[in-house]
Amino acid sequence: MQRYQNFIGGAWVDPASGAWFESTEPFSGKAWAEIARSNADDAARAVEAAHAAFESQEWSGLTATARGGLLRKLAQLIEANVDLLGTIEQRDNGKLMAEVSGQVKNVAQWFYYYAGLADKIEGAVVPINKADVFNYVKWEPLGVVVAITPWNSPLALTTWKMAPALAAGNTIVIKPSEYTSAGILELARLADQAGFPKGVVNVVTGYGGEVGAPLVTHPLTAKIAFTGGDAGGQAVNEAAAPGLKKVTLELGGKSPNIILDDADLEQAVKGAISGVFGASGQTCMAGSRLLVQRSIHDHFVARLVAATKAAKIGAPSQLDTQVGPVATRAQFEKILRMIEMGKAEGATVACGGHALTGEGYGQGQFIAPTIFTGVSNTMRIAREEVFGPLVCVIPFDTVDEAIAIANDTEFGLAAGVWTRDLHRALYCVDRLRAGTVWVNNYRSTSFMTPFGGYKRSGLGREGGTEAIKEYLQQKSVWISTQPNRANPFVLG
Ligand code: NAD
Repeated sequence: MQRYQNFIGGAWVDPASGAWFESTEPFSGKAWAEIARSNADDAARAVEAAHAAFESQEWSGLTATARGGLLRKLAQLIEANVDLLGTIEQRDNGKLMAEVSGQVKNVAQWFYYYAGLADKIEGAVVPINKADVFNYVKWEPLGVVVAITPWNSPLALTTWKMAPALAAGNTIVIKPSEYTSAGILELARLADQAGFPKGVVNVVTGYGGEVGAPLVTHPLTAKIAFTGGDAGGQAVNEAAAPGLKKVTLELGGKSPNIILDDADLEQAVKGAISGVFGASGQTCMAGSRLLVQRSIHDHFVARLVAATKAAKIGAPSQLDTQVGPVATRAQFEKILRMIEMGKAEGATVACGGHALTGEGYGQGQFIAPTIFTGVSNTMRIAREEVFGPLVCVIPFDTVDEAIAIANDTEFGLAAGVWTRDLHRALYCVDRLRAGTVWVNNYRSTSFMTPFGGYKRSGLGREGGTEAIKEYLQQKSVWISTQPNRANPFVLG
């Protein structure tokens, strides 16, 4: 079995506790790697290494153009290692190989994008309202950024933080999910090869409470960039508050996908499926509430059930597999509990509603793609994030009713609208309280546009040019052009 140490200050080191835990394959249930079980001592060591690197001339003395060059080199190394990174990620979280390799290529694109942005962050000369003073504004990095990430898309969600944080001149300590650490450690190995100075990129692995929490509260941590559940995000935000640390949070959702009666139904069925059964529903942006106009409801549901039943379910390593296993045993059991909860609340199972075991299903950590009909938006199954292949179909009569149901949630990560009518589409876009709205598509993302949540789905944005400012702070500089002050006792 492969053993993965922590990466701190440019060296591979054992955890202070001397303890390790196993990483297992969701499909087979076999343990394949040993991961360091880190604690507060490792957290302190990593933050101190990152702080020393931040203060060093070797990093802070680099021009922004040179920093961009390092990011570009890392992007090239990622491109050269797509198969290695994709295989590890697929092994760790059971995501489809077909999706993972595309995601890793996309990770390289994120590094290229922020490599290019590194030396285009311009300050300003302010036409200040005072005589004989020159005022300008410059952007500076924050210091040590702690990135805490979940298991569903580990490399992508780490990159969404790491690329802008490094482009801006910060140093970073990454705490990956305890389920998916290996790929992030390989990413650190590539960053080392790319030539980042020692201590600029650090990875400490382990459990949230044991090593994540002390990273958040360490006095030298300047900012926490977190992706995970809303409960974890709230805990991180509260723990960061006494130290007045900056925080960005990318959290969960219960996103509405609205099918209007004039939609292209063939495309809408595909969009509904990719929205919630892609990645076995283990995506923050899952279109887990499917709002269908009553006049087309029965016809649409029949087509959706038929298309869902035809999905090829099985080993994620097979390129033609369409639905893979659930990533963790805890998540598998949670989804089954929520299915039972939906049944008890009176929703109807139109498809799925059970686990899948036997030939072709490995250790049996599969959930049949599940469609609940007859769901009311007040049911818990319609209000709580499942993070699995389960969709709630909710009927509505008018567009305004659809918008009211869509917005009746504590989350606001994303929403979808399916219609051929541009006016109806834009009417919905303007009224949906969500950070991303897709019209006649679902689950598209890019490094070029912001992603983040309204309401309990998060704080701040990732992606796009503005996101780099989440890792920068402004400094206002005043230069007197007049040597003699008239009256030193009066504010000028
Ligand atoms: P999680 O909140 O359980 O864990 C996320 C990370 O936080 C892990 O690395 C974990 O070890 C760490 N952690 C947990 N408690 C901590 C604490 N007190 N202090 C510091 N770190 C702590 O989430 P998960 O189960 O790994 O991932 C699934 C969740 O992530 C879902 O709710 C999903 O919606 C969300 N998610 C959001 C986005 C987004 O961009 N909005 C993307 C993917 C996943």
